[in-house]
Amino acid sequence: MRPQILFSLFAEVSSLKGVGAKVTPLVQKLAGPLVRDLLFLTPNGMITRRRTTAVDAIEGEVGVFDVIIDRMFVPAKIGAPLKVRASDETGFVHLIWFGGSPQHIDRQLPRGERRLVSGKVERFNNEVQIVHPDWIVPLDKADDIPAVEPIYPATAGLTSRQVRKLAIQALALAPVLPEWQDTAWIAARKWPAWQAAVRVVHEPEGLTDLEPDAAARQRLAFDELLAHQLALARRRRARQITPAPRIVPGASSDRLLATLPFTLTRAQAKALADIRHDLASGEQMGRLLQGDVGSGKTAVAALAMADAASCGFQAALMAPTEILARQHYQRLAPMFAEAGLKAILLTGRDTAAERRDRLAALADGSAGIAIGTHALFQDAVRFDKLALVIIDEQHRFGVNERQRLQAKGDPRIGGVHLLTMSATPIPRTLELTQYGELEVSRLMEKPPGRTPVATAVLPLVRIGEVAQRLKAAIESGAQAYWICPLVAESEAIDLAAAEDRARDLSRILNLEVGLAHGQMPGAQRESVMADFADGRIPLLVATTVVEVGVDVPNASIMVIEHADRFGLAQLHQLRGRVGRGAKASACILLYGSSNGENGLGDTARERLETLRRTEDGFEIAEEDFRLRGGGDPLGLRQSGFPAYRFADPIRHRSLMLAAADDARMILDRDPDLTSPRGEAIRILEALFDWKADRTAAD
Ligand code: ADP
Ligand code: MG
Repeated sequence: MRPQILFSLFAEVSSLKGVGAKVTPLVQKLAGPLVRDLLFLTPNGMITRRRTTAVDAIEGEVGVFDVIIDRMFVPAKIGAPLKVRASDETGFVHLIWFGGSPQHIDRQLPRGERRLVSGKVERFNNEVQIVHPDWIVPLDKADDIPAVEPIYPATAGLTSRQVRKLAIQALALAPVLPEWQDTAWIAARKWPAWQAAVRVVHEPEGLTDLEPDAAARQRLAFDELLAHQLALARRRRARQITPAPRIVPGASSDRLLATLPFTLTRAQAKALADIRHDLASGEQMGRLLQGDVGSGKTAVAALAMADAASCGFQAALMAPTEILARQHYQRLAPMFAEAGLKAILLTGRDTAAERRDRLAALADGSAGIAIGTHALFQDAVRFDKLALVIIDEQHRFGVNERQRLQAKGDPRIGGVHLLTMSATPIPRTLELTQYGELEVSRLMEKPPGRTPVATAVLPLVRIGEVAQRLKAAIESGAQAYWICPLVAESEAIDLAAAEDRARDLSRILNLEVGLAHGQMPGAQRESVMADFADGRIPLLVATTVVEVGVDVPNASIMVIEHADRFGLAQLHQLRGRVGRGAKASACILLYGSSNGENGLGDTARERLETLRRTEDGFEIAEEDFRLRGGGDPLGLRQSGFPAYRFADPIRHRSLMLAAADDARMILDRDPDLTSPRGEAIRILEALFDWKADRTAAD
């Protein structure tokens, strides 16, 4: 139920003065359906006006001139501008309209009358001219012309100034609201109360009031972020109160741990402890395991599955491709067997007999562990006691697919625990908005025995040299990837380029070269990948399809053409495919084009330099995020940020982290929001009204 104090803000925009049938849809499109939405529409700039004269006026500034109207020149032919000449004591001021109505302009500027005229100053033949003056008023209305005027987003049929009038009306309807922020927190930051803050936004005194670090703006951004994080935290809680089977480590888990050919890294042990804590809680787990390619997520997943199976439940691990599922199965099944657990593999390519046996083993519970592809959630698949679902490379699956697998649990034993795994490190802020409803474990540390990947950044003209070094490395037994990006408008052209490259390399190096790209039938591509994985092909030319997660320890060289056209995160992902074995590994980032254009902009250089400097995926993700800066709002939105109205995920990064902590703490201390602050928090939640579906996680 919406608190009564907010009723005025939740009225339809059509209730405002000047918003009739024609304007309503325009306002709705621009701001939204409610008065609140106008209040939340922030100016994106500001005009500052200064009284001036024809002789003093400075080109480019917005000046207000006190003039007498001399005469009007009506255009002789269509398309020519309409001009009015006016003057003050110091000289002429020419006013110009394209497509203006002579009658209308004549009425506003009668000959011989005195007027105040405002507009952006241009100089032409050393005389002042103003194209489309923004204010024309008689002297006694001088106060109508604002000295500072915030500029609002506008749309065809609705000018910035009309929008401003509406925003001011909305402002008048904004009530004083109880304080929902922690009082010490806002006092320390000298933030204004909510109503005062929206007033600053719509009646700014200067441009600094609109900057992201202005006190009022920060306050509103924090309100917005807190409201969003509260919505996510509530979803997280809703999951947590779903009862789910209690799973604790058993004898088989211990045996599996002993069977692993390595000891867990500290990061793995910590992630496993997090997971075990959730699994034993009796509440449904929802956890994301983030870690670079090669950080050892699989071992953590395997131990969690062993826990479930040794408690008499079943666990399923779903991977996005056949080759990945098979790789997991081949590595894990023998270890599970040694630990006394039966695992089965389920993919789209099992024979009818295999499939029948495996389905039976799942249905009667004799197999505690299932590893597979999309085949796992098909209708014919029945589990006896599914209690844990693990999704590898989670971004490759739709929410529905994940939910279909989870739905195979038995409601009588409770909800199915969920662990999703991702090899794409993302900035903490993005993690908070995209996965705010999940708990997160991060594998920050790589298993020992990795060789650092020596990364070089070279212009494409040195490709011949690179090929020669590649030849030598392959002759001494190395395997290499060669990545050609999809860059041209036409995929056909790109494919041709990749095919050419494969042919050239095959000729120059005199060996068999595999080619894998996104247009190939899946089976064919997987068979090339498998040949490479098994060492039958020493060199694989690929567009960006190199399977995420495929482990080819013998591959130690990665060449990436047109590296400057890739995102940093993507380059990092690609590079992660080498450096997995004991061999010294190298990654060569080629930039520019073969016809000698080697220019690389500053940002591009900095990006590639970041990659050369570090192999820490989380650091790279943060840096990528920073380098993309606030100048790419579209890119940010694409990368999963909701459309915030006050908050800027980059500029308000630290506020977002604080809001996440605050939301968690508020709901921990006062889950039903009954304290005085809790009641104010409800008003905040209602004010922003975050719909759960506005987040990217589902
Ligand atoms: P991810 O799935 O995170 O990309 P994997 O789980 O496939 O990484 O692990 C990559 C490689 O590292 C595998 O060959 C695995 O056996 C090995 N590995 C995992 N954990 C450790 C560890 N603690 N010590 C040594 N090697 C490990
Ligand atoms: Mg993996």
